[in-house]
Amino acid sequence: MSIKKIRIIGAGLAGTEAAYWLANRGINVDLYEMRPNKQTEAHQTKDFAELVCSNSFKSLNPISAPGILKREMKELGSLSIASAEKAAVAAGEALAVDRDLFSKFITEKIYNHPLINIRREEVLSLPDDNILTILATGPLTSESLSLSLSKHTGSEHFYFYDAISPIVDLSSVNFEKAFYGNRYGKTSRMPQNSELEASTEDYINCPLDKNEYDLFINELLAGQRVEPKQFERVKHFEGCMPIEEMADRGFNTLRFGPMKPVGLPDPKTGKEAYAIVQLRPENLSKTSYNLVGFQTKLKYGEQTRIFRLIPGLENAEFIRLGSMHRNTFVDSPRVLSLDLRLKKFKNIMLAGQITGVEGYMESASTGLIAGIYAHAILENRPIPAPPANTAFGALLGHIQSTHKTDFQPSGINFSLFEDHHFTAEIEELRTKFRKKIPKEEKRKLISQSSERSFMEYCTRLQQLAPTTA
Ligand SMILES: Cc1cc2nc3c(=O)[nH]c(=O)nc-3n(C[C@H](O)[C@H](O)[C@H](O)COP(=O)(O)OP(=O)(O)OC[C@H]3O[C@@H](n4cnc5c(N)ncnc54)[C@H](O)[C@@H]3O)c2cc1C
Repeated sequence: MSIKKIRIIGAGLAGTEAAYWLANRGINVDLYEMRPNKQTEAHQTKDFAELVCSNSFKSLNPISAPGILKREMKELGSLSIASAEKAAVAAGEALAVDRDLFSKFITEKIYNHPLINIRREEVLSLPDDNILTILATGPLTSESLSLSLSKHTGSEHFYFYDAISPIVDLSSVNFEKAFYGNRYGKTSRMPQNSELEASTEDYINCPLDKNEYDLFINELLAGQRVEPKQFERVKHFEGCMPIEEMADRGFNTLRFGPMKPVGLPDPKTGKEAYAIVQLRPENLSKTSYNLVGFQTKLKYGEQTRIFRLIPGLENAEFIRLGSMHRNTFVDSPRVLSLDLRLKKFKNIMLAGQITGVEGYMESASTGLIAGIYAHAILENRPIPAPPANTAFGALLGHIQSTHKTDFQPSGINFSLFEDHHFTAEIEELRTKFRKKIPKEEKRKLISQSSERSFMEYCTRLQQLAPTTA
């Protein structure tokens, strides 16, 4: 039998998970890591899977989206979860760690694995040999490799910064003030392969009168902003400027930009408002919406306070808040195949933050999935994709969301669990609660349904790909 071999570039959260999964199944791994010879702008040690900022992996509550993801990772035998449990510090409902212990534990496991060969060197360009390669170089991929990747994806599908707008839960929007409607009543033009239907009511609109606009802009200008790190101090492109920086340019700038009211008469008055905030569907189920053009560097508490001044969003529940970071990622829905390989370069798979997931655990999860998929590719088996109603399925659904024209990174959250993957269970709840299903009940349902499906998935994987080490 020939010896199977893989190359993994980047020993971060994703790369180490992939390496460990594959090596434990008898695959020889060459793992490339450029640190400490060359550091990124944020890493400080030579350890693998270094946590560059917070030491929290978010909630452990199984009725939360991050809790469901961690439960699934643990079921798969995730190295990050095992290490986090060993290095855990007290943090209430969250899983938080002693960062040094966490990285040291992972580094030791990887160093001591007989099938993992570590190469401390920077990879300067995409390898063009026949060795299957997982690229997991993260949000701070070195410059030379970034340029090489962007050449292969096309620069229009490669990003150096993210520009994330807040997402609101539909059930928290006040429709006594907000209304549905597209600008000039236009019907949406859906891409051919989209699962969404064309409609004249894609957007939710929140109208503001002059007093409301003045108050909003004043608070936006006074709102506390996150101080960017040295390497994040950049001039933003016009198209993705933080909303507060746009407001800095003049009191009326937003009324002629993202808050433009033209072509959107309020059905209650028949007249155009002084300004409008538009919300666009974030998922296929249309249960969550993002604030169009509201990428921001305001502090989280300030975002909640200030964005709730928008009429219709007084009680908005924010599923995700806005942010802008230095972040290398690709336009995954366009450049990746379903098996995480570059469409145009079949020997290269992507994993981690570079695929457009956001967060430590999300990056580690895609590392696990890349390991599982690479194993199947090396053994010439069909790709064992996780069920769509699980957290892994939800994250992959995000990376593959071809209906999103403006792809931006996302961490795991309930808006990624699409209703149509839970149709039967939701129907049952509808019968039980008649009018409106309480949010907690729906989240419980998602947690239970995903748990059942994931257990079945793990049993199937155990038969297909048992550990050999
Ligand atoms: C400044 C900053 C702060 C963040 N804070 C948080 C946070 O608080 N919480 C959170 O959940 N997420 C945070 N993230 C986001 C993200 O979850 C983490 O960056 C996460 O580590 C990503 O995992 P990864 O495996 O994709 O990349 P990484 O963990 O960054 O691993 C990539 C590895 O590849 C190596 N590498 C890069 N280029 C090359 C090359 N050419 N050749 C060889 N090796 C290379 C790097 O040295 C690195 O070790 C932050 C990101 C940044 C940039």
